[in-house]
Formats: sequence, C-alpha cells, structure tokens
Amino acid sequence: MKIGVPKETLAGERRVALVPDIVAKLVKDGHQVVVEPGAGVAAGFTDDAFRTAGASLGDAWTADVVCKVQKPSPAEVGKAREGAALVGLFQAATNAELVGQLAKRRVTTFSLERLPRITRAQAMDVLSSQATAAGYKAVLLAAGTVPKFFPMLVTAAGTLSPARVLVLGAGVAGLQAIATARRLGAIVSGFDVRPAVKEQVESLGAKFLAMEEQVQAEGTGGYAKELSEDQHRRELEFLARAVKDADVVVSTAAIPGKRAPVLVTRAAVEGMRPGSVIVDLAAETGGNCELTQADTPVVHHGVTILGPVNLPATLPLHASQMYARNVASFLAHLVKDGKLQLDFADEITRATCVTHDGKVLMS
Ligand code: NAD
Repeated sequence: MKIGVPKETLAGERRVALVPDIVAKLVKDGHQVVVEPGAGVAAGFTDDAFRTAGASLGDAWTADVVCKVQKPSPAEVGKAREGAALVGLFQAATNAELVGQLAKRRVTTFSLERLPRITRAQAMDVLSSQATAAGYKAVLLAAGTVPKFFPMLVTAAGTLSPARVLVLGAGVAGLQAIATARRLGAIVSGFDVRPAVKEQVESLGAKFLAMEEQVQAEGTGGYAKELSEDQHRRELEFLARAVKDADVVVSTAAIPGKRAPVLVTRAAVEGMRPGSVIVDLAAETGGNCELTQADTPVVHHGVTILGPVNLPATLPLHASQMYARNVASFLAHLVKDGKLQLDFADEITRATCVTHDGKVLMS
C-alpha cells in the first residue's frame, strides 16, 4: 500500500502526520511511503531523515492513503484521488461541507477525533496525545506571562510565595496541566464535574476542589454532560470565589459536540488580582471564560486572558511523534494483507469513517 504525507497547509500548523521512525516501521511492514518535500521541516524532521527511513520524496496525493493532521484545504480536496483514503483530524461534525465534497470525490475519509475512547483504541487516541501537549504548553504559557515565579523561593533577597494555579476540567489536558504546574512548584487545585477524577487530581499532588453540594455530571463514554441551569448557576458562583485566590487559571472544560461551558464570567475575572492569567484551552469552541477571544490576548482589569487554539502545533516534534504513532496504530487496525479492508461492524471503523463509496456516513 502506498501511504502519502503532505506538508500541512494551515497557517501556523507545524506538525506532520508521520515521522521518520514510524515511516521506517511502515516500510518494514511492506508499505511504500511518499513524503512531500519539506513536510516535516517545521517539526524538526528533514527530508533526508525521511529518505533514510525508507520514504521517497514526491507528490503525497498519489498515495492510496493520505495521512494529514489538519483538514484539507479546497486545493487539497481537488488533489484527492478517487478511491483513495484520507486520515486526519477533520472535525467532521462541524465541517459538513468539506465532508460532502470528499464524498463527492469518492474519497474514503477517516476523521480521527471521532475515535471511541475505548481501551482497544487507546494507542490510536489522537485526542489524548494532542491534549497532553496542549495541557503542558498551556502551563508554560501561563508561567511565561504571570509576573511571578511558580515555585516558592527562599533567597537572600527574601522569601517568595509560590504561585497558585487552578485547573478547570481534569480530563487529559487538565491532568497534564496539573502535573506540569506541580513540577514547576506551584500550589495546584483542580476542579471537574466528574467526581471520578478526584483521585487522579489528588494523585498528582493537587487539591480537588469540591462544591458544598457536589455537582455530578458524568455522561456516556467517560465524558461530562451538560449541567442543568441551576447546577451551572451554582458552579459559576462557586468558581467566582475559587478564581479569586488563583494567580493562574488553566481551563480545559469541554462537552463533546457542544459549546464549551462558561466557567469564568466577566464579573469573576473582575474579582481576580491584577497580573493574574487565564489560559483558556476551550477557546475554539467558545471558551470557558466569557472574555476569551480565540488566538487574541485580552487584558481586562489587569487580568490577561489567552485563548490559544492550536497549542500542540507549538510543540511540533513530540506532538507529531505521538500523532504519527496514533496514526500508525489506526492504519494497522484497518490494513489486512497489505490493503485497507473496512469492516463496518467494527466500532472503531464505523465511528471514524465519515465518507465512503460516494456517501456521507455520519448519522
Ligand atoms: P474533554 O476534553 O471532553 O473535557 C475536559 C474535561 O472537562 C472533562 O474532564 C470534563 O469532565 C470537564 N468538564 C466538562 N464540563 C465541565 C464543567 N461544566 N465544569 C467543570 N469541568 C467540566 O475530556 P477528555 O480529556 O477528552 O477526556 C474525557 C474522558 O475520556 C476522561 O474521562 C478520560 O479519562 C477518558 N479517556 C478515556 C480513554 C480510553 O479509555 N481510551 C482515553 C482518553 C480519555
């Protein structure tokens, strides 16, 4: 099977879908890999490294399976070959037009954000691997913006108290943010509406913040569900008090397929100390802070609010390495006897395949 790796075209995207180590494994398994010249350069992987791994350099869109990170641009859709497969993070649920175009071109499209969060799919779980990068980087961004040290310092010039970091939403990104802030020596608290995460937050050395009257919103598949209006009002009141004590708030709360819940209101921001920082990882889906603007820093009452939308792209080497491993595991799941063999009775194939044989398969 011929596997293609184009250079990503979205502005600011520095990741690449496959890295040389993984290419070498695919070649060893009998596949051909064709990489667009320069595809890995922004992530730190040279054309030579791909060549040494056994890839050829050329037009990646001639392949049977094209592996991407971001959704294809209109020009790329034009290059997609009839009958070929396309794998990547296409946010299919919110890109109906793109999905329709790919179906029309008779491309078989796999949108990896739709992978079920089941044990069998863990090695393919791009959401987890990229959220790990985002959670880590969010804390570094906050540490570089807040006008304080993170750790407590005892120096000849005096004793400096540690920064207080509050992480809202303790999923994959949130737990990584907690771990990173702890490593930097901050005093860290975590909050989530899924009580199951309390133990995980505490095992990282952070305090789990619990509302007097605990809100429990565990939905299906380990995800959270939307709170009722009354629960949400109580949550906002609780968090307005909690954020007052924080130098840094990292927010990661999300509900699949919905707008991100608002957790920090304008009034709550106004209650924070000047110099405090909010890094809102939910910016792309509307933001956890009422004042967040995607990719545009906001300063309100001395509080800086950052809403970066693609932090994994700022850690492109490791983010690509993890992504590539996820993609290779996904391909291994689909390929039998050197070819893609789709079994729509399989949960992983059914969930991720959004176009096939000229049809849109999403319900
Ligand atoms: P996510 O990105 O959907 O959400 C991030 C966090 O926000 C979640 O912990 C969620 O509970 C929380 N949240 C939602 N609404 C909130 C609110 N109003 N207030 C506070 N917090 C709120 O989550 P994720 O990181 O993708 O992880 C989702 C779940 O899937 C987790 O339980 C994770 O452990 C699980 N998971 C399972 C597997 C697997 O078994 N293969 C792999 C990865 C993740």
